[in-house]
Amino acid sequence: MPEQEHNISDTKQLWDAALADIERAVSRANFTTWFKNTSIVKEADGVVYLGVPNGFVKEWLQNKYHKFILKSLRMISENIRGIDYIVISKTEQQKPGFAESAPQLYGELPLKDLYINKDDNLNPRYTFDTFVVGPFNELAYTATQAIMKSVGSVYNPLFVYGGTGLGKTHLLQATGNKIKEMYGDKKVFYITSEKFYLDLITSVQANKINVFKEKYRKYDVFIMDDIQFLSGKQGTQDELFHLFNTLYDNNKQIIFSSDKHYNFIGNLEERLKSRFGAGMIVDISDPDFESRVAILKTKSRHINFSPSDEIIEYIASNIKGSIRELEGLLNALVCQAQLKNRDLALLEVKTLLKNNEKPRKTLSVEDIVHVVSEFYNIEKSTIYEKTRKKEIVKPRQIIMYILREDLSISFPTIGQRLGGRDHTTVIHSCDKIKNDLKKDTVLVDELERIRSLFAQQQ
Ligand code: ADP
Ligand code: MG
Repeated sequence: MPEQEHNISDTKQLWDAALADIERAVSRANFTTWFKNTSIVKEADGVVYLGVPNGFVKEWLQNKYHKFILKSLRMISENIRGIDYIVISKTEQQKPGFAESAPQLYGELPLKDLYINKDDNLNPRYTFDTFVVGPFNELAYTATQAIMKSVGSVYNPLFVYGGTGLGKTHLLQATGNKIKEMYGDKKVFYITSEKFYLDLITSVQANKINVFKEKYRKYDVFIMDDIQFLSGKQGTQDELFHLFNTLYDNNKQIIFSSDKHYNFIGNLEERLKSRFGAGMIVDISDPDFESRVAILKTKSRHINFSPSDEIIEYIASNIKGSIRELEGLLNALVCQAQLKNRDLALLEVKTLLKNNEKPRKTLSVEDIVHVVSEFYNIEKSTIYEKTRKKEIVKPRQIIMYILREDLSISFPTIGQRLGGRDHTTVIHSCDKIKNDLKKDTVLVDELERIRSLFAQQQ
C-alpha cells in the first residue's frame, strides 16, 4: 500500500510530539539552541524533510542528534525511515505551507501573557472551574472561599505556602478573578514579589518613590505571589511593611504566597513575619492519589481527552510529584493519541512514562562562566570583577545573555551571582547582545559555537 503524504497539520502534530519527547531528554540550553525554528516541511515515502534555520544547525542535528530525532519520530510514527535536513530561511518558514511547530511549543508563555489583564495582572485562565480540591489543598481553598464572602474582614492576611507546581499561583489568581466577578467595584491587583522589587528599584532610580507608594495603596485586594524572593531585600521588605499597614488599616484584603513557611525564609524582617503570623496561614501539600486521579480526569475532560481509568490510575500511582508534572505528561499523551488517531494502550503510556524519567543535567552559572571565559581565553575571575576592559565586558555580557535566555534566571539573580551587579546592568547587557545579534554575524557564530560547547559538556 503506498504511503500517504501527510498533510500540514499532521506533520505539525508529528513534530510537536517529537519535540515534546526531545525536550524531555535534552537540556533546555540544547533544546533552545538546536531545535528552535525547526519544522517538518513535508513527509513523503517515510522520509521526513526537516526544515532548519541554517547550515550550522543542520550539521549539528545531522551529526549529533540524528539517531535520537529518528527514534523520537519513529516512536510516534513507525513508518518513518529517514530524515532529510533542509535549510530554509526565515521568510520561507513564514510562508503558508510550512509547518510552524516551534512557535507553538515555545508559544506557551507569550500566549499566556497575551491574555493577562493590564489593570490587575490577572490571567483569566486561572479559575475555580478548573481547580481540583482535595485533602492536600482543602484548607487553602476553604480560606479563599471565606475571603470571597467577606473581603478584607476574615483571614487577613492570608498566607499560602507550598512547593512549586502545587497550585499556589492558580489559587491566588482564581481568587482574584472570582472577586472581580463577584464585586465589580473592587480593585484587585496581583503581582509577584519579584516584579514589586523591580518596580521599587526603577521608581527609586527615577526619583518616583512617591508614585510607587501611592499606586499600590489604592487596591481593595492586594495579592503578592512568591514572597520568598524578598529574602535579604531589606528595602523592598520595608516598603512592603508600610504598604501592608496602610492596606490592613483600611480593611483591604491581602493575600501572600510563598514556597515555604515564612519562618523558613531567610533574612526576612521580624516585623513582617509577625504581620504574616497575625492572619491565616495555610499550606498546600503534594496531592494524594485520589486527588491526582481527580486532577487527571478534570484536565482530560477539559481538553476533550478520555484516557481509560486504568491509564489514569497508572499515571496517578506513578507520578507523585507536582500538578505541573501531571499536566506535562497528560499533554504528551494527548499529542500521541491525536497522532495515532486512537486511544493509547497502557503499554504505550508506560513507555512514555519511562522516557519521562531521564534525568536532565542542568547547567549552573559557574558552568556558563567557565565555558565562556575559556572560549574567549580570559581569566574566570575577571567576569566577577568590576573591570570595564573591552575584552572582559563582552564575554560578561554574553554570559548574562545566556543565563537569561537559556537558563531563564531572573535579572536580579544574574546580577547578584556575577559579582553583585545591578539588575539594570544585566537588562542593559542582555538587550545589547540581543541587538548586536541582529547585525553582527561574527557574534552569532561565536554564540553558536559557545552553545555547542555546552552541548558537548552534557
Ligand atoms: P505554583 O504557583 O504553586 O508553582 P501553579 O499554580 O503554577 O503552581 O500550578 C501549576 C500548574 O498546575 C498550573 O498549570 C495549574 O493550573 C495547575 N494546577 C495547580 N493546582 C491545581 C488544582 N488544584 N487543580 C487543577 N489544576 C491545578
Ligand atoms: Mg507560582
